[in-house]
Amino acid sequence: MVSDAKLKELQNLTWELPHIYKIEPGLIPLADEFAKGYKYFLDQGKTERECVREAEILLKKAGYQPFSLGKKYQAGDKFYCVNRNKAMIFGTLGTQDLEKGIHLSVAHIDSPRLDLKQVPLYEDHDIGLAKTHYYGGVRKYQWGATPLALHGIVVKANGEVVEISIGEKEDEPVFCVTDLLPHLAQQQNKRTLEEGLKGEELNLLVGSIPYFEDTELKEKVKLNILVLLNERYGITERDLARAEIEIVPAAKARDVGFDTSLIGSYGQDDRVCAYAALMAEIETKNPKYTSLCVLADKEEIGSTGNTGLDSFYLLHFLEDLAENQGANARQVMRNSKCLSADVGVAYDPTFPEVVDSRNCAYMNRGCILMKYTGSRGKGGSSDTSAEYLGYLTRLLDQNKVFWQTGELGAVDVGGGGTVAKYVASLNMEVIDIGVPVLSMHSPFELTAKLDVYQLFQALKCFAADEA
Ligand code: MN
Ligand code: MN
Repeated sequence: MVSDAKLKELQNLTWELPHIYKIEPGLIPLADEFAKGYKYFLDQGKTERECVREAEILLKKAGYQPFSLGKKYQAGDKFYCVNRNKAMIFGTLGTQDLEKGIHLSVAHIDSPRLDLKQVPLYEDHDIGLAKTHYYGGVRKYQWGATPLALHGIVVKANGEVVEISIGEKEDEPVFCVTDLLPHLAQQQNKRTLEEGLKGEELNLLVGSIPYFEDTELKEKVKLNILVLLNERYGITERDLARAEIEIVPAAKARDVGFDTSLIGSYGQDDRVCAYAALMAEIETKNPKYTSLCVLADKEEIGSTGNTGLDSFYLLHFLEDLAENQGANARQVMRNSKCLSADVGVAYDPTFPEVVDSRNCAYMNRGCILMKYTGSRGKGGSSDTSAEYLGYLTRLLDQNKVFWQTGELGAVDVGGGGTVAKYVASLNMEVIDIGVPVLSMHSPFELTAKLDVYQLFQALKCFAADEA
């Protein structure tokens, strides 16, 4: 028989990942409260533009001022700047010299969806439809036969911007992509799942009543839709060529499960990290190191474009901030630390074969630290150093934050990337951190409230860290 002391010693040699509830049941009400604000954020922010607007409201309320070039900031000063209405940077100046580095959190606020094409409207046998082009990695068959809403802007010929949002309120209509009835799906059923619905079959049903006046005009269903759009928004078909209209699931964020332990919603990748990072930054009052947060766009299509992190806008902001403070920007970046906050894969009991069960993340076991992402031999990944992992896990342990490790699926099953590599190219330390997600990239993604709360705690203690 081994003694109790020896047993404890032996147990300390091994690492078992507990369900958070088993260790800290008291966290449930805190996580539930945090989830309320998060669900509201998800409902208000169905697009990157809406997320920026919602974040700006919260930042202004918390005393953040628009960033001004040439202004020397004092410790505790809070500032923000918006990049083209789709991305933003905000932070709090630290007490320590800027050249000692900043503590940066990055998350993305774009999510997979359908976009309207530039010439979307047409009709076929009195059914009005709109052509779409999907954005990011969607499983196309998931977008059929489900209620969808339109969000976006149209820029009129005179430059006026018209905002469109239809399908979220109870009294508003929704839209949908049709699918075949099983009775006639014999041929379709033989397709691969990837082609269950093909890209050019993701046509949005938008109407079915012809323009009522007796005219010689053709395509009267489409015309009637244009009349309705013109009455409501003052726009024409030509204006749609200057529009950005996103088609997203019309449902609201909901609690999931008898025990309401989970959150189900569209867009949690990566608004879960965006909201946690935003709240963590807002709660950071007088940090030693300057805390900074970036909410980026375009991650889902490879971070390309001037609102994605492959652009120089973050670099330029850091240069501007350094100039304001009389600091050397290269020195600032070299000494900086970053958490690239993006969602990870959760173990799904229905599909265990796609992960390595010893190395994947589990629901309700805390935030995930992902040393690497990528595919086919870590390709395209920013593989973090053991030293930086050492720093971060020390910090999380000191602050009693539950963390686990994770990777993006079993070796050679698939993979993916995050914005970490773009931050790494600025010569900062960076690691991916996130929460486990089930049904990722679907119209209804799942997270666990306890995990979301742990991510918030992790980002908060990182922003306020004195080390
Ligand atoms: Mn993501
Ligand atoms: Mn994603």
